[in-house]
Amino acid sequence: MDITTVDPMEVIVNDTGALVYVIDLKTHEILYANKRCKEEFGEVTGKICYKVFQHEQSKPCPFCPQYQNNKNPMTHPLGTIFEWENQNTLNQRYYTFVDRIIKWKNGQKAKVQIGIDITNQKKLEAEISHLRDYDSLTKLPNRLLFKELLHNMIQKLDSNFSHGALFFIDLDNFKIINDTKGHNVGDLVLIEVAKRIQNSLKDIEIFARLGGDEFVIALQRNQSDKNILLHDLSLKANKILELLQLPCTIKNFNFTLTASIGIVTFENAIHSVDELMKFADSTMYTAKENGGNNYCFFDPKLQRIIETKALLTERLRQAIASDKMYLHYQPQICLEDTERIIGVEALIRWHDADNGIVSPGSFIPIAEESGLIVPLGEYILREAMKQLKLWEKDTIKKEWRISINVSYKQFETDNFIELLESLIYTFQIDPSLLRLELTESLLIKNTDAALNKIKIIKKLGLTLSIDDFGTGYSSLSYLKQLPIDELKIDQSFIRDLVTDPNDYIIVETILSIGQKFNFEVIAEGVETQKQYELLSSMGCKNFQGYYFSKPMEESKLTTHFKLIH
Ligand code: C2E
Ligand code: CA
Ligand code: CA
Repeated sequence: MDITTVDPMEVIVNDTGALVYVIDLKTHEILYANKRCKEEFGEVTGKICYKVFQHEQSKPCPFCPQYQNNKNPMTHPLGTIFEWENQNTLNQRYYTFVDRIIKWKNGQKAKVQIGIDITNQKKLEAEISHLRDYDSLTKLPNRLLFKELLHNMIQKLDSNFSHGALFFIDLDNFKIINDTKGHNVGDLVLIEVAKRIQNSLKDIEIFARLGGDEFVIALQRNQSDKNILLHDLSLKANKILELLQLPCTIKNFNFTLTASIGIVTFENAIHSVDELMKFADSTMYTAKENGGNNYCFFDPKLQRIIETKALLTERLRQAIASDKMYLHYQPQICLEDTERIIGVEALIRWHDADNGIVSPGSFIPIAEESGLIVPLGEYILREAMKQLKLWEKDTIKKEWRISINVSYKQFETDNFIELLESLIYTFQIDPSLLRLELTESLLIKNTDAALNKIKIIKKLGLTLSIDDFGTGYSSLSYLKQLPIDELKIDQSFIRDLVTDPNDYIIVETILSIGQKFNFEVIAEGVETQKQYELLSSMGCKNFQGYYFSKPMEESKLTTHFKLIH
């Protein structure tokens, strides 16, 4: 074609790569279609647009007369622009359209539609979403999708008729295969496992790989009789174990695969997906502890313990946040010349509105497990220092030191030292009146790091005590290195001290270690006069226990001690 005969607008419109056509707004007749449009749909000029372009009725489409009402137009100096996206059912491609109302050649109102092909982008989006939801190795749903599917299943359960069950499957000794035969073989084993389990499943059962060698199945049974249900689930678990044990050869290696399966059943949405997965996971571990190659049902007793724990954790969180915790103080008595209080141990108390006084023995482990010990520990330090500051005005109590129990979790936090420094600075207290009680296990667990921290704490001027001494590690070599001030004889040795010769020997030994290393020694849990007298006769000088005083609130502490002998 001669270059001069080409209509430049025609070139531009045809070469954009987009679909371009013009529709008469009144008659819906296609007035113009560009080359790309003709290539895709054939000759369309002169035809009624919505008869040509068939589309899904449910989706908004500018070819429909009713379309005008259901899109959000954008105003533009050149007219109104509509933007929309649709899949054309004629050629199965996706377009995003921009429509503009214009005046056509002889003045009638018309609409120019420019459709840009976004099929590739859509494909990419679909691939990305597939990657997000599926495991690339086994092509099974991954953890994310599984949780979504399980959630939907739980929501739809009709508890009158149906039960759900979750199988948590973990291969036994898979790590050995991976380590000895390499990851490539490991991957092939996982693919084989996925295939075998998949073959045992019914269509509606959801099967996924959580990661590593962990697989899960979620299923539903219309069975209201729990015994029949459990029997049915046992059969299924056995079937899976049998399938896995069939001979398996991968890259000339022969394997016998076994797995451990934890099964939890549910009939309503009381438990969240995460909780169910946790239950099934912990049950799988029980199966593993029982030797592997078997399955276990979740024990509701264990479930109750876990639930109580979760509830307690939440209450504890609220109690800490709303200042429902407070300190009691138990006097520590020194017998050097006269009997006098040399300090107190701060013991945390929690008064829960529903459960009454909750013992620290039960909530400290929960606080440690959940990490709540960190804010709680900070609160305890703050309260204790506040108290030391107040005692500065009291002629007797100003001499008292406060011993604070420090959990290993708190001790290990990166900013523990900074916290101590900043609190000491805030309250302007004499740090030598602050004694930290650390447990033996904390001290030997991480010697280098712990030792460094301890040295800094000592530099700050605080003193240190080893709590529950004698119950932890038996090697005494670590004692040499530690700049500690006090050993606290665990109360378990005091309990039967008077009658049990073994306890006597232990206490005697601890007292002599104290003497040789120049540590103070305090006996805790002293309940009777006999224990007290025996300990004194053995050379023990410092005491703590119900015989002298129970832990109590600060206002009830007596300042003068006179024991009746
Ligand atoms: P612990 O550090 O060994 O504290 C001594 C425990 O023995 C306290 O129990 C105390 O009330 C109790 N006790 C004192 N004298 C006697 C006695 O003569 N006989 C008997 N049978 N018991 C006596 P409590 O207050 O229930 O605390 C239990 C444990 O909880 C503590 O053991 C400590 O490990 C932990 N704990 C308590 N308060 C705190 C705290 O503020 N922070 C941290 N991290 N742990 C704490
Ligand atoms: Ca203690
Ligand atoms: Ca103790």
